[in-house]
Formats: sequence, structure tokens, C-alpha cells
Amino acid sequence: MTQPLPTVGFVGTGIMGASMAGHLVSAGYPLHVFNRTRSKAEPLLAAGAVWCDSADDVAASADIVITIVGMPADVEQVYFGTNGRGGLVAAAKPGSLLIDMTTSSPTLAERIAEAATARGLASVDAPVSGGDVGARNGTLVIMAGGDEAAYARALPLFETMGKSITRLGAAGAGQRCKLANQVAVAVGMVAWCEALAHAEAGGLDASLVQQVISGGAAGSWAMTNLAPRALADDFAPGFLVRHLVKDIGIAREAADETGTELPGLMVAEQLYALLNDGGCGDEGTQALLRLYRAADDAAVS
Ligand code: NAP
Repeated sequence: MTQPLPTVGFVGTGIMGASMAGHLVSAGYPLHVFNRTRSKAEPLLAAGAVWCDSADDVAASADIVITIVGMPADVEQVYFGTNGRGGLVAAAKPGSLLIDMTTSSPTLAERIAEAATARGLASVDAPVSGGDVGARNGTLVIMAGGDEAAYARALPLFETMGKSITRLGAAGAGQRCKLANQVAVAVGMVAWCEALAHAEAGGLDASLVQQVISGGAAGSWAMTNLAPRALADDFAPGFLVRHLVKDIGIAREAADETGTELPGLMVAEQLYALLNDGGCGDEGTQALLRLYRAADDAAVS
């Protein structure tokens, strides 16, 4: 007889979480969900998921809990509660598995793992890459940290959401890999914006240039998926500017700890800080092109 699927709890049904949780429902997992703003969970509820009134209620009713919230402060609050009261670590059933898929700090992932172990729980940090498109299509890259037994329990769930799933090492290793990913993402965003601004300034059709050079050595996921949105003045998020600013900050702190110089990242950090401070934090990261266009406008006027 086949084992019934475990009940999965899901906290954070935003741009990424809603699609990822949807794949679990489609795969037949009983799903219990909570999100700060309930309306964002409605499509999942319509598909059969069960609403819980808090993250702690999710933990009390699930065998495996997945979180994908926004910032490390949100992760901290969801796992450890407010003023030392509540939180997933305290509320989870004995033997539960806690999986954080937020892009967050490696040291926080290590703290969660330590606290989970002390309560007889298992944990995995498993941030993702592939954007809103990858989440929708179930083709995410998933970077995991945690012990092998915990990873093995998480793997069937990851397989509903991702196409490339790798365990990098102990707790925190998934987050460290994701930070490397974000260094490449941030510097790469500057690269294609600069290339297209350069082409436009030279009198070329930037959309045509984007199509031509995407197929060559300069091509990247971002140039293929995000540059066309920016060129069409579509700045709706995909991936929020304020989340990339968060990731750059975590990556820089980790680099400071290891004494690694990342001059390219510092350029990206300055540009994205400018964009964020200019009121574009809730736009998609492709809004970086605005800065180059604003510079051109300033040069013309
Ligand atoms: P998002 O749309 O802002 O989703 C985050 C969700 O978490 C929101 O719906 C938010 O609630 C909810 N949330 C935050 N704190 C909560 C709490 N304490 N309790 C319950 N729910 C809470 O962001 P996203 O784009 O899905 O990104 C989520 C994470 O994945 C971020 O760490 C991001 O850096 C990372 N990531 C994003 C992408 C991407 O392309 N979007 C790709 C890879 C990784 P509200 O609805 O009330 O705001």
C-alpha cells in the first residue's frame, strides 16, 4: 500500500510562494496555508488548500512546513515569534520538517537549524532562483543546505517546483550558494542595462539589439526575460527592487566576513540603492534601466 502524502504547511503566498504552493496542490499534497495578506492565498484556497489564521496554526497542523516570506526579519519573526513568544520552531509538531525558501541570511539559517534540532525537528534552507517565470513553470533552481536525511524528506516536494535541485552542504549552505547567485544577478543586471543604453545612444533600436545579442555570448536569463519588459516600460515585479537591495546587503556582509573584495557588486549596490531611494522599491529589478534613461534625459535637457 502506498503511504499517504504528508500534510504540507505553507507560509508566504506572494509572487513566488503562490505558484510554488500551487504545484504542491496539483501534486496532491494536502496544503495548509497562511499569508499576512489573505487575499493573495485565495487562488490556492479555491484549488483546495485550507486557510490557517497564523503561521503557528500552520505548524500545528502540518508534517512539513515551507516558508517563503520577504526579508530576514520576516523569517526571524515567523520562526521565533514576537518578543520570544510563538513561532514555528515552538509550534511545530515533534518530528516535523521546517524548510525556509526565502532568500535570507546564512547565519539565520544556522540558528534555525540549531533551534530546530534542540526541539527534535529537522530543517533545510532552500532558497530558489528562476524568477516568477520559473516559479510558475515549476522550473526553479533550488539550492539546499541541511543534513542528508532532512534533504531526502524535502526532495519530493522540491521536485514539484524545480528542475535543478542540489544539496550544497550543512545548514546555511543553500543560502551561501544563493548569495553567490545574487552577486551574479546584480552585476548582470548592470551589464545588460549598460549594453542597451549604449546601443540606444548610438542610434540603434534597443529591442532589436536585445534580440540579436541575447543569442550570443552576452546572453543571460535576465537579458532574455527582463530586458524586454524594461524596454516595453513594464516595470511590474517579477523580482522586487527592495528584495535585490536586501540580497546585495546580505551578500556584502558575508563578503566582509570572509574578506572578499567584490567591486562589481559595489557598483550594483550603489545603483540599486539610488533606484530604491527614488521610490522604485516595489517595482521589478528591470526598472534599473530607468536610471540609464534618466541620465540620458538629463544629458539632453
Ligand atoms: P513577495 O511577493 O513580497 O512575497 C512574500 C510574501 O510573504 C508576501 O505575500 C508577504 O505578505 C508574506 N509575508 C511576509 N512576512 C510574513 C509573515 N510574517 N507572515 C506571513 N506572511 C508573510 O515576494 P516574492 O517575490 O514572492 O519573494 C519571496 C522571497 O523569495 C524573497 O526573499 C525574495 O528575495 C525571494 N526570491 C524572489 C524571486 C522573484 O523573482 N520574485 C526569485 C527568487 C527568490 P503580504 O502579502 O502581506 O506582503
